[in-house]
Amino acid sequence: MVTNTPRYYAAFRCLAGACPHTCCAAGWEIPVDPDTSVRYQTLSGPLGERIRTFVETDPEGVPCFPLRGESCPFLGQEGLCHIHIQLGEEAPPLICRTHPRFCYDYGPLRERGLCGSCPEAARLILGENMELTAGREPGDGEDLPPLLPPLLKARETALSLLTVENATLSQRLQALLFFANEVQVLLDDGQTEALPQLCEFYEEEFPLLSSENLPPRQEVLKKCLCILEGLSILCPQWQELLSAGKTRLGKPVPLPPHSGERAAAYFLYRHWLRGAWDGDVLSWAEFAVLGTVISAHLSPCHPESFPETFRQFCQELEHSEDNMTAIQNALWDKLSLAEMLSVAAW
Ligand code: SF4
Repeated sequence: MVTNTPRYYAAFRCLAGACPHTCCAAGWEIPVDPDTSVRYQTLSGPLGERIRTFVETDPEGVPCFPLRGESCPFLGQEGLCHIHIQLGEEAPPLICRTHPRFCYDYGPLRERGLCGSCPEAARLILGENMELTAGREPGDGEDLPPLLPPLLKARETALSLLTVENATLSQRLQALLFFANEVQVLLDDGQTEALPQLCEFYEEEFPLLSSENLPPRQEVLKKCLCILEGLSILCPQWQELLSAGKTRLGKPVPLPPHSGERAAAYFLYRHWLRGAWDGDVLSWAEFAVLGTVISAHLSPCHPESFPETFRQFCQELEHSEDNMTAIQNALWDKLSLAEMLSVAAW
């Protein structure tokens, strides 16, 4: 299989007990994969007994560790996992051994990355421009989804729009939305053969938009915050941030250099190719803009600023398929392109 991996991926090291926002207390249920579940059945000693006492079956029939408040029951006060400490790094469930890494297969292509919900991963994601390393892994993968090659090329163009020199972040995000909208029109009309030409055009021309006829930004931003409040909320701190964000509509948003474009690039890399399955790329470009703009808008409401609001956005949205489906639907049905262009204009 051919693989893509961001360059920063290999630099990731879990902060373990020094982690300020450990994933073991993020409010996520911890599923126990079948292989680990079998091992736990025969595990001897007091910890084996304790694990078997704790494991429950969720409503979908998946064995899991139920949460204690927002935390895994095996998270110790020192911020370390007792299963890992006592039985070794291979002993916790698969999800704990692999987090915060993600891996998506698109037929013969595998893409790996780090989830922005982890503070150390967020530091790496925001710390350098997105640069992909191509590689190979054993296996052929499934059949090639027909939309994959044109969408890969279009993603390259989309990513390049985020780094155009002499343009503001706002202008880059608006250009991305314009481009994604045109890609979507071609996909909807079944004219994917015209995509390379469209990409070429956007690689040479950078569209600049007047904000004059766009819907009022404050109102649209408030609407976005209300939509996010209507999703499942994992951590109460996110609800507090969204509420605080409503009280500072219209106020300036200071952003550390490059953070916005790198956040947007992360969202595009991670989600754009979902379009290879369902033919929707506009929503994922809009999601990239939404995640970047909301993280920026909320950043003055948190002492750790943009890296933390970006991290919380990722934690609340990207780890819940229900929330991802709900936000994709909202971007289709409740927010127009003009409204998203307005949100991007600051
Ligand atoms: S959030 Fe990231 S750094 Fe923190 S404990 Fe989890 S994997 Fe490690």
